[in-house]
Amino acid sequence: MRIVVASGKGGTGKTTIATSLALALTDRPVLLLDCDVEAPNAHLVLSPQLTVREDVSQLIPSVIEARCTGCGRCAEVCRFHAIAVLRGRVLVFPELCHSCGSCVSNCPEAALDEQPKVIGVLEAGLVPNGPAFARGVLNVGEPMAGPLIRRLKSWVFPRQVAAGPAADLVEILDAPPGTSCPVVETLRGGDFALLVSEPTPFGLHDLRLVVEVVRELALPAGVIINRDMPNNGDLERFCRELDLPILMRIPLDRGIGSALASGQSLVAVRPEYGEALRGVFAHIQQTVVEGVP
Ligand code: SF4
Ligand code: SF4
Repeated sequence: MRIVVASGKGGTGKTTIATSLALALTDRPVLLLDCDVEAPNAHLVLSPQLTVREDVSQLIPSVIEARCTGCGRCAEVCRFHAIAVLRGRVLVFPELCHSCGSCVSNCPEAALDEQPKVIGVLEAGLVPNGPAFARGVLNVGEPMAGPLIRRLKSWVFPRQVAAGPAADLVEILDAPPGTSCPVVETLRGGDFALLVSEPTPFGLHDLRLVVEVVRELALPAGVIINRDMPNNGDLERFCRELDLPILMRIPLDRGIGSALASGQSLVAVRPEYGEALRGVFAHIQQTVVEGVP
């Protein structure tokens, strides 16, 4: 089962929930995937022992000048405007290239080949007495997180180190903030979207946006309200109108906030949330496995 923890807005407590849910499910194999590849931070809470590292490359077309006739076919077929032909010379813009291979397969002179370009790294290991862990780290300046997230989601190694039967494995994906392509890439193929929000105008605004994405992908979803406080009527109303179950509430609490800021997990600071998160998981399991809406 694959649970994606997303929020729309950054700073709502998404990583707090993802890491504590992973720590709370002690009776089954769990894998936490930190898909926030531009700024991964789940390791700060979990302190995994990262033992395996793999570079991730993207294939970028390069021109074999001796064969190129400057016909321009490659530029015509590139949907991403990542290749141009000016006065018979081919220019490739790697930062726009999605490595789709269309230009290579459509070149009538076989004048394009592909060269690997390292865009980031995957790292994996075990959290002592805890879940398996893996993350992607995008190289500074690399514009496209999607290929790295795709590779992280399909990486076999961390699934092999997660203790317990593979059929019981629960994957918890910590999504990037926002609602752009990296978030869609993280949500795609998920079984359930666990949305973390806060009762502020920005929190509600960004929850609306991420719910649109989740509904577009036809994912069942539920909400955790973090830093909850009285008079959060707009957020409650929104959830009610969209039939989004509120699965857990964490009140605004300075004690929790300062402990989390020092790198502790929610379940270490307040063990009672372990039981609450197991209840959230039971709801998700019922929704996903038994098809209960
Ligand atoms: S399609 Fe091939 S031959 Fe034509 S301009 Fe591009 S690289 Fe050159
Ligand atoms: S591989 Fe795809 S995206 Fe990249 S330049 Fe060629 S056609 Fe464009």
